[in-house]
Amino acid sequence: MNLPKTYEPSAYESDIYALWEKSQAFTPVFKKGTPTFTSVMPPPNANANLHIGHSLNYALIDIAARYHRLKGDTTLVLPGADHAGFETQVVYEKHLAAEGKSRFDFNREELYDGIYNFVQNNKDNFENQLRSLGVSCDWSRFTFTLDEKVVTTSYATFKKMWDDGLIYRGERLVNYCTNHRTSFADIEVVYEERTSPLYYLVYGPFTLATTRPETKFGDTAVAVHPDDERYKKFVNQVITVEGLNGPFELRVIADTMVDPKFGTGAVKITPAHDFNDYEAGQRHNLPAVRVINHDGTMNHRAGKYEGMNVSEARKAIAKDLRAKGLLEKVDEHYKNRVGTCYKCSTVIEPMLMDQWFIDMKKLAAPAIAQLKKDAITFYPAAKKDQVITYLQTVRDWNISRQIAWGIPIPAYQNIEDSDDWIFNGDTSSEIIEQNGKTYKRDPDVFDTWFSSGQWPFATLGYPNSTDYNDYYPTNLMETGIDILYRTKNCCRSLGVE
Ligand SMILES: [Zn+2]
Repeated sequence: MNLPKTYEPSAYESDIYALWEKSQAFTPVFKKGTPTFTSVMPPPNANANLHIGHSLNYALIDIAARYHRLKGDTTLVLPGADHAGFETQVVYEKHLAAEGKSRFDFNREELYDGIYNFVQNNKDNFENQLRSLGVSCDWSRFTFTLDEKVVTTSYATFKKMWDDGLIYRGERLVNYCTNHRTSFADIEVVYEERTSPLYYLVYGPFTLATTRPETKFGDTAVAVHPDDERYKKFVNQVITVEGLNGPFELRVIADTMVDPKFGTGAVKITPAHDFNDYEAGQRHNLPAVRVINHDGTMNHRAGKYEGMNVSEARKAIAKDLRAKGLLEKVDEHYKNRVGTCYKCSTVIEPMLMDQWFIDMKKLAAPAIAQLKKDAITFYPAAKKDQVITYLQTVRDWNISRQIAWGIPIPAYQNIEDSDDWIFNGDTSSEIIEQNGKTYKRDPDVFDTWFSSGQWPFATLGYPNSTDYNDYYPTNLMETGIDILYRTKNCCRSLGVE
């Protein structure tokens, strides 16, 4: 008999795992009175192979699970796969590009089906990789984030939050990538330090500094600090500004958001294209005038600059302002933080859009109270404060995405009354009739985090399944801090979401 000199794990491990699986060693049998240990694995994205971050994440969960199993606890580790909405569509679009195609060559259904098949092929790969890692999870409870029970749970939550006033439809300024043509949540924007030209423009009696002269066609006020002696006499006055499309009038407002030390202490207010200006606009009842299209080009309000993209328009406008004596100077070395798309680095355009939002303040308050009571233990403990700070500063969450790959939003709009929306949990029809009225389905899908945020409920069958009664609440969640704030190329480094 020939024995190999060294032990070769690869020759035995898959057989051992197959035995574990066959004997249902990781499918727990619930016993009343026995402690349970439950961990719902953060499902990996179903668009690529696992990486070293996943291995670390799942190894830590597996160690904890095996420890509890040896102690005699009823132990459930629940595996899954994430459709990863926008992330997966981006990966799929790269595959299309390699074939010389783009998503605009397909209609929505064709695109959805293409991505669905692509994901099915990838799912097998990483499931086998999890087996190779030896993760002791219960495959009989495997859940995909587009499984019917996940969609049903998400729709029930959406309906309940809508009824409870926690979800609202509204026109707000949102983060928008003009390359990917979709909006993003605040936490999906990556901020970069950049050097941008700061233009000093002549606005009537003022000279004011801006990095965005191209948005001047959407200006609806000039703002100064209320305590700034230099400008007090102008507050509440209407000034006439010489512009590129002829003279126009602007009101001067006083607002403490203005930093008297920035530039000349006077700034232009463009509510439709800047988050701070939007809030100032709300405080002072200013109209929001859109001047940029969804494809990143200037619209008709920009006059002869219509059709140029933002950076072309910026240069052309600066040149023309200079020729008219309306550009005093340019500081080429101004450093600012610029929001960018985490996938393509396109500068995020604040865009005024009708979307679904979650009222986060009402949800954050009880979560903060529980965290402060130490209802959840953090390792390391200091991370708890970061979560609290995150929740204290969180703004309303935009959950609408303009992509094909995701769970359709179960809301229909009256085609004759844009304010009349109804809920319908069957999203298979684009048009429905109700009470003699015709309603059209919202073409958007949920931010993938809207359904992922309900993962423990969806996988365990909230609100009244046996699993939910036996295994909820869960005991361990292992994740990276980048779950809170997006960083460039993080690729959800620990496999979360
Ligand atoms: Zn992008």
